[in-house]
Amino acid sequence: MGNAHVVRDYYGTLGVASDAGPDEIKRAYRKLARELHPDVNADPEAQERFREVSAAYEVLSDPEKRRIVDLGGDPLGNGRGGGGGGADPFSAFGFGDIMDAFFGGQAGGRGRGPRSRVQPGADALIRMRLTLEECATGVTRDLTVDTAVLCSECSGSGCAPGSAPTMCDICNGRGEVQSVQRSFLGQVVTSRPCPTCRGFGEIIPEPCRQCGGDGRVRSRRTVGVRIPAGVADGMRVRLAGQGEVGPGGGPAGDLYIEINELPHETFTREGSDLHCTIAVPMTSAALGSDLVLTTLDGEEKIEIRPGTQSGSVLHLRGKGVPRLRSTARGDLYVHVEVRTPTKLDEEQERLLRELATLRSEDVAVSTRSAGLLGKVRDAFRQ
Ligand SMILES: [Zn+2]
Ligand SMILES: [Zn+2]
Repeated sequence: MGNAHVVRDYYGTLGVASDAGPDEIKRAYRKLARELHPDVNADPEAQERFREVSAAYEVLSDPEKRRIVDLGGDPLGNGRGGGGGGADPFSAFGFGDIMDAFFGGQAGGRGRGPRSRVQPGADALIRMRLTLEECATGVTRDLTVDTAVLCSECSGSGCAPGSAPTMCDICNGRGEVQSVQRSFLGQVVTSRPCPTCRGFGEIIPEPCRQCGGDGRVRSRRTVGVRIPAGVADGMRVRLAGQGEVGPGGGPAGDLYIEINELPHETFTREGSDLHCTIAVPMTSAALGSDLVLTTLDGEEKIEIRPGTQSGSVLHLRGKGVPRLRSTARGDLYVHVEVRTPTKLDEEQERLLRELATLRSEDVAVSTRSAGLLGKVRDAFRQ
């Protein structure tokens, strides 16, 4: 650098007189640092000045180094401070620490002061398995719930009867303790929750025997639950204030009942509509027949009209699931699947061949050409 002979003016850099006391030096440094710190001032010139100012403070806050300056020397020797390239004044601490030291912890974002022992409780979730019929009609059930409830012994205070919390004398009720590191930047103060009172600022000298000071205990209780008609798989019913009581007897969270709808052997559900499939023998489909289907409302007579095709759908209005919070109901769709006989005895086969001949359909059985199949389809539509 070639500036070994230059004795830097550390007092001038900080703007203090050569007889300034340690407090005055510290004040001057903090004032400048607030203006020049890279976190608040992005100007490269300001950053350069911040290095100089920091170097000056490093020297003048240390009685030993200050003595060297007062004797006309430079305790930092060559190439430090204004020259750059020296030790980085930020390297020893994170910016958060430095900002804590300067600005009273605002940079860290966490508020000061003890935290409250009383915290809101968590929500609880339980699953309830319901059949399709139960989802459709709604149910009322008693559920056994295992949650945290208010401690009956201390009513949430956590203190044994007749005792009271006392101020934590490790942190003096502030809930946090500070550790101070001395450095050339001044005192770097870091805060952490007080380990003695766990940040509460107070301690319970005689914890309640029933809850151990938590203010709540785990308990099984029975909750009456009414599930409305029309619920579906995955829906949640909320019971306000029936969840866990919070630490210190804080307000209870909510209890959610999640519906798990069991598969039904006949019906599949799409919203409030139901679908099912019925198998009809070929002869019944051709000749027509009546059959009985058990729906949510009991037995229902279904008419298969003569000539019913496989894949046709019967639409039964209002025979589905009730819509939630409504008097309306979904529909029931009955899908017809026509079954072709597979095992024919001689007599049955003879009759079917005779029928085929009568209907001029016998050619279609022996050939699979697309043109003829098309003809066969047309024949069936007549
Ligand atoms: Zn208790
Ligand atoms: Zn404490």
